[in-house]
Amino acid sequence: MSLNGTYDPDNIFAKILRGEIPCAKVYEDDQVLSFMDAFPQTSGHTLVIPKTPSRNLLDTDPDMLTHVIHTTQTIASAVKTALDPDGIVITQFNGAPAGQTVFHLHFHILPRYTGGQMRDHASGQMADMDVLKQLAAKINAAL
Ligand code: AMP
Repeated sequence: MSLNGTYDPDNIFAKILRGEIPCAKVYEDDQVLSFMDAFPQTSGHTLVIPKTPSRNLLDTDPDMLTHVIHTTQTIASAVKTALDPDGIVITQFNGAPAGQTVFHLHFHILPRYTGGQMRDHASGQMADMDVLKQLAAKINAAL
């Protein structure tokens, strides 16, 4: 999808926001939701999304973007406390040629461990929901 496309209300994250698809929830407030990536590139791969519809960083209201980024920082801190990684990668893709596969704004939080591998973006295997829920609870407890 190009950067100029319209928002698809049936994208997978919109369905998660409407409760039509389950997720391993880490945190939510009235404006944002954070949950575990179902195809994690590393153990602890977490996502942060706004509740309002926007496809990417470029078409997001700046005040909402501020809150999403602030929440991303807060969740990354909790990931650090909960999982004790050696590093954390934050990524965000805009448009299919840039690597975006779900067209609802989101930030990736990827814990990294010295010597550990990171699977390629959008190529992983679906993780076990119980394992994701345990990770989500651990991160939530560190908030
Ligand atoms: P991107 O490619 O940056 O648009 O990222 C989309 C992310 O959503 C990928 O990392 C996928 O693994 C993840 N994803 C896709 N479907 C789901 C789902 N049902 N629940 C949680 N994460 C998902």
